[in-house]
This record gives sequence, C-alpha cells and structure tokens, in this order.
Amino acid sequence: MNCIHPTPDEPGFATAEMLYIDPEACVDCGACVTACPVGAIVPHTRLTPEQLPFVALNAAFYPVREGKVPPTSKLAPVPDAPRIDPRPGGPLTVAIVGSGPAAMYAADELLTQRGVRVNVFERLPIPYGLVRAGVAPDHQSTKRVTRLFDRIADRRGFTFYLNVEVGSDITHDELLAHHHAVLYAVGAPNDRRLEIDGMGMAGTGTATEIVAWYNGHPEFARLPVDLGHERVVIIGNGNVALDVARILTTDPDALARTDISDHALAALRGSKVTEVVIAARRGPADSAFTLPELIGLTATCDVVLDAADHERVARDLAEATDPLTRNKLEILSRLGDASAPATRPRIRLAYQLTPRRVLGERRAEGVEFAVTGSADEVVRLDAGLVLTSIGYRGRPVRDLPFDDAGGVVPNDGGRVIDPSTGAPVRGSYVAGWIKRGPTGFIGTNKSCAAQTVHNLVADYNDGLLLDPARDRAKPAALDRLVRSRQPDVVDAAGWKAIDAAEIARGGGQRPRRKFTHAADMLAAAADAPAPPLHERVLAGLRR
Ligand code: NAP
Repeated sequence: MNCIHPTPDEPGFATAEMLYIDPEACVDCGACVTACPVGAIVPHTRLTPEQLPFVALNAAFYPVREGKVPPTSKLAPVPDAPRIDPRPGGPLTVAIVGSGPAAMYAADELLTQRGVRVNVFERLPIPYGLVRAGVAPDHQSTKRVTRLFDRIADRRGFTFYLNVEVGSDITHDELLAHHHAVLYAVGAPNDRRLEIDGMGMAGTGTATEIVAWYNGHPEFARLPVDLGHERVVIIGNGNVALDVARILTTDPDALARTDISDHALAALRGSKVTEVVIAARRGPADSAFTLPELIGLTATCDVVLDAADHERVARDLAEATDPLTRNKLEILSRLGDASAPATRPRIRLAYQLTPRRVLGERRAEGVEFAVTGSADEVVRLDAGLVLTSIGYRGRPVRDLPFDDAGGVVPNDGGRVIDPSTGAPVRGSYVAGWIKRGPTGFIGTNKSCAAQTVHNLVADYNDGLLLDPARDRAKPAALDRLVRSRQPDVVDAAGWKAIDAAEIARGGGQRPRRKFTHAADMLAAAADAPAPPLHERVLAGLRR
C-alpha cells in the first residue's frame, strides 16, 4: 500500500526528518516491518517507553479525514525499472566507485536488468562506506542495512574490487575503456573546517574524525584522542554532534556490547569526561539535529540546558508555528537544568555561541565564544578537547570537474556536467553525497541513485555510451589489469572471510570485533576458501 509518506516524488521528501505511516491507508500487512532494511518500523504495540512520542508525531502528520478514504490509499505506483534496450555491443557494464549506500543502491537498480555487469571499486579492503564507518556503534539496527547490501553483492553480474583506489591504482580513463560508464558514489570524505585561531593545536579535532576512530576506520586507528579532561566542547549541533556526544557519555559497559573499535572502548573506559557541551551558533528553533535523533538522545542520556537557554527555548516556543520545530522545542523545554548536580556524564546543549578562538598555548584549554547577536558579550568554556562538527565536505575526484563552493561534482540528475560548456561528460555519473551534498539519511540515497541510473540507462539506450573495445569487454581483461596494479585486491569471497572472522572475534557477546588495520583485514581475506571447482569452471566459461 502507498501508506508511507512523504514518498520520493512528494514535496518534502528531500528535507524529511522521518517518514510517517498513514493510519487509514495502512492495512496492517506488516510488509514494511520486515522489509525496512534499517529496522525503523515496529508495530505500535511494541514501542519502548522512549519511543512512545512517535505515536503522536505520526498521527499529527495526517489531517483528520472523518472516515473518508484518503487519496493515498491507492496501490503504490511501482517505479519503472530502468529498461535496457539490448544491443550487439552489450551487455551494459558499469564501474561504480565507492561502496556505501549510494553505490550499493545504484548497483541494485542496475542489476534489475538481466545481463548487466557491475564492478564496484572500493579503496578500503572492506565495503559499505559510512554504514560501517559513520553510523554510530550503538545504532546497530541502522547498520542492519548491510545485510541488504550483502544480498545485492551476491547477485549475478556483481563483482567487488576492494582495496583498489581509483585515481591511483587505476585511472578514470582505464575504467572507461573497460566499461560503458563510470558512476562515482564516493561520498563527502572531508570535513568542513572552522577557520579560527587555535584549531589544529593538540586537543582540537573534528567530530567526523572521532566518528571514524570509534568505528574502527583503518586510517583513524591511531588518532590521538585525549579524554583525560572533564569537559569536551563540540561546535555545531547536527546529528553527527549528537552521535559523538552520546558515545562520549554512554556507559562503556553498554558500548562493549556493540561493534565499537577496541581502541575507542579502551579510551572510553579510562575517560575522565563528565560533560559534553554541544554549542550552536544560532538559537534552539534552528537546531540542526533531527527530531528522531533528539528523541533517541534524551531517551538514553542525561541532557540539560542552562537557565539562559531554557529562556531561549521558551521564547522560541512562543513564536514557533512549524509543527516539527515545535516538537523539538517542546522536548527541549522538558530537559533538566544544568545547575542540578550530575550523577553521570551528561550532555549540555548550548545556544547563541559563535566560536571565536580556541584558548590555550600548546594544547586546547577551552573555547571563547561571542554571544550571537550581542555586541560585546563573550562566553568562555574550559575544555580539554574541542571538536568541530560543522558538516562533511566532498573532495575533488581526479579527472572530473568540481564545484568548489558546493563541494560536489557538477551534475544534472547524476550526469556529470562540464561547467565550461554545460555539456555532459561522456560516460561519467555521480550519486549520493558527491552528487547532492552531505544531507539526508541512508534511504535518501535510494531515490538519488535510482535517478542517476535512469539517466545512465537512457544514455546507453540513446547510443551515447561507447562500447568497450573487444579485447577489453571481457571481465578477465579488467581482472588482469586490476591485479597487475594491486595484487592485494579483495573480492567478494575475501570480504565474506573478513566479515566471518570479525563476527567470530565478537564471541557471541558483540555483533563483531572489527579489524582496524588494513593488514589484518588482508590477512583474514587471504583465508577465504577457494571457490568449488564447478564454480571456477562456470566463471571461466562466462568469461
Ligand atoms: P549538519 O546537520 O549540516 O550540521 C552542521 C552544524 O554545524 C549546524 O549546527 C551548523 O549551524 C554548524 N555550523 C556550520 N558552520 C558553522 C560555523 N562556521 N560555526 C559554527 N557552527 C557552524 O551536519 P552533520 O551533523 O555533519 O550531519 C551531516 C548529515 O548527516 C545530516 O544530513 C545529518 O542529518 C546526517 N546524519 C544523520 C544521522 C542519523 O540520521 N542518525 C547521523 C549522522 C548524520 P547552522 O545551522 O547555524 O549553519
């Protein structure tokens, strides 16, 4: 049933903070509960006390209709799968660069058509991008989407080339010579930097680095994270700031049941942090975090406001008309007071603070803020760790144009565009954060990738994509080239071996104990059993 809104083609989808189930159109079939790849839907009878606010939020989204059948109760229109016109130079072969949600959804969409071949290239020996390295370890249900990705990777026509860096191990032109198209879904791996005095000193860093560190990203395993002080200040109040503050204040024994990296767990066990301040430059009504994440935070952590911010919340609440903002403000208005004694590490949300400089000579000792909107009022907060959390940023992709202001590759519906001529760059496509900027949740990438794939397939059908030369069209030719450049390439069997080894290391107590060094991942991949003889023969015949 078409009972979950807004849908990707309805207004408001791009900025939606959550989706809502229409209680009149829903027939209680439960299909969405089992299908939701991130476990975000549960029957209302199974909501935990902390989740109960979602019942009222969901109901408030739909107007009262006095028994009339809502217009949304029609069967959902099934979006057209991209239909590929077969042609002699086929099958369509696409290289996808990156293996996060946008990449995997693009592969899924392409593989709806028989005969299509998709080769997914990933710089790290392990796949799935921010689902593995970005989603917080205490959000295991969100990470469940990797099961869907594993099923996509198992489909006929899908090949993993992990531990292969496009741009150094293999170039864009080489990929294009072996495929009809190259689709970049490389995300936005840099952070936006805050240019104030003192950033860069010891004791300063970015929230996104901490996220990569606690999630066991191999390039951040040795990040120096000093938790030997009482207060951490995070600048910016988006969902990433909430994630980091939650992890820094959660009981390590609870985190020990997750897949948090061993080095982060050890550091958190020794942590002296008693307060994390999340400092926003604007007021409560402009909080960047989303409502579901705020509800989740207040359900699990002690979150407080000081008296001045309680007053700001009350003022904003008196003026706010938008229901989403009002809901956030109502939750904020019920938070405890910062003057009350703390019984465990807590989070303080602070407002109207524009960062001016990090205090300290050799290492961070605090932050100085100007009170936003006031001519001369200054607030200084002591802190041993100062983190900026002001958003991710796309990085230029070698051989593609780049829009520096937006931090994205210029594109029209996923077709890469040459900004000097406005013409599409043949065979080059983008999806996900490198296409639209770092916003939205995992599911947003599904419709984003589908749009790119539809345009790619239309270009293929219109004869705009060149067939690879005969000697390069066979998978074995690409395989040889990749292995000549990167002998340690990890394939699907290698990933399965890493996955199984990590789960076994968890010992049934944890979902997995992650490898955090590439060498350990490669050693586990090398233990992958050779495929059975009949599969090798079949693979040879297909080639
Ligand atoms: P974000 O939501 O864009 O928040 C950025 C924050 O930085 C805002 O508070 C912004 O304030 C502030 N900021 C920007 N420039 C600043 C400056 N010069 N000085 C001080 N503050 C500054 O970014 P994010 O938290 O990195 O999240 C990125 C995306 O990932 C978002 O779409 C988020 O929802 C998503 N995400 C989702 C989840 C989840 O669903 N669980 C988890 C993590 C991330 P202003 O508003 O004043 O500009």
